This record gives sequence, structure tokens and C-alpha cells, in this order.
Amino acid sequence: MNLKKRGNEDMIVTLLSTESLLTLYRFYGARHSALQLGYKIDFIVENNPFFMPRLRQVAHLSFEWLFSLEKARVWQRFCQLLYAHLRGAEECGGFYYDMLENAAGKLKTQNPKRTMIESAAALLEHEGRLHSDMRCFICREEIKGGRVALLRGCSPAHAACVGAEGFDLRAVKRLFEAKESLLFADPEIKILWKIVESGL
Ligand SMILES: [Zn+2]
Repeated sequence: MNLKKRGNEDMIVTLLSTESLLTLYRFYGARHSALQLGYKIDFIVENNPFFMPRLRQVAHLSFEWLFSLEKARVWQRFCQLLYAHLRGAEECGGFYYDMLENAAGKLKTQNPKRTMIESAAALLEHEGRLHSDMRCFICREEIKGGRVALLRGCSPAHAACVGAEGFDLRAVKRLFEAKESLLFADPEIKILWKIVESGL
């Protein structure tokens, strides 16, 4: 999930496992295959009483869509955002791993930005931060119709209250309730992705 170079070619690697975030040390070795951000791997943790636990016997479990540059780029960006969001929360629980597994499955056929926007909505809901009540972030009134702007963390506001073009209310509701982005047009997906990129 995160790779930090240390010394020559050694690395401190942060991995999201099924239940928690692991930070491990990886010694450089010619026989090691290169690690890339966002790769799914099989591995062994070797505990070291004097230092950080070591990452050993890495085997890549590749996603077939990683050959698509656009999919790989959006996936890696989402992994960076998720790392920034989760770092320091080692016992994060199984939700995040399952969310990525689900997204990786959808990426076989679905647009990458749409997929990761849907994942971001699921994450916000899991953390109790998805504002499904549709109350405007600025004036605190309920948004009953018209256009909805989304701020960082997908906080909704009346488009008029923030002076933005906003999105169709039905499309936002569909995303919040069903975690489906299909009612957004492609140019809107680009704007939504920028909102996700501003921080989970
Ligand atoms: Zn308002």
C-alpha cells in the first residue's frame, strides 16, 4: 500500500491485510521481484526481536486489468489516498480489504474512476461520514431538489449556496444509497474523482 525507500534499495512497506495495516521491512535482494504500489501479494512475515518484522517470500497475485494504464493509475492513486487516510490506524478491521477486493473485481469491466468513486462512497458510509440526510453543509437546510454540490468528503451543499454547478440530486442519491455512479455523465465523473482525490 505504501513503499518507502530506505538506504540503498531496502524498503519499508505498508500492506493492507484482511484485518489490519502491516508495516514491514524488506531487504533488497537481486532475486526479489519488484514491488509496486497497489499490487496484491502473497507474503510471509518474519518476526525480528531486534527490529521491524520482515517481509519475505513475496509472490504477486496480479490483477489482469493492471495492464490498462488508466486503470492502474486510478487504482494506485486510490491506494495512496487510502494509505493517507488509514495510516496510524493499524487495527482497521476487514472492511477496507473487502472494499478493495470488491473494487478490483469491478475494474475488470467498469470504468476506473466510477469504480473508485463508488468505493469512496462505501468507505464514507462505513465510517458514518456519508451525509445521506442531504442537509446542506452551508445553510443546514435539507436539499429537496435542484442541483447538489459535493465538497470534500462528499459533503452535500445547495449548488447555489457554494456557487458551483453541482450535480443532479437523483444521481447523488443513487450514489449515496446504492453506491452506483451510473446516473453521472462522464464529465461529471471527472469532477467527482477530483473531489475524491482531495481526500477520503
Ligand atoms: Zn444551502
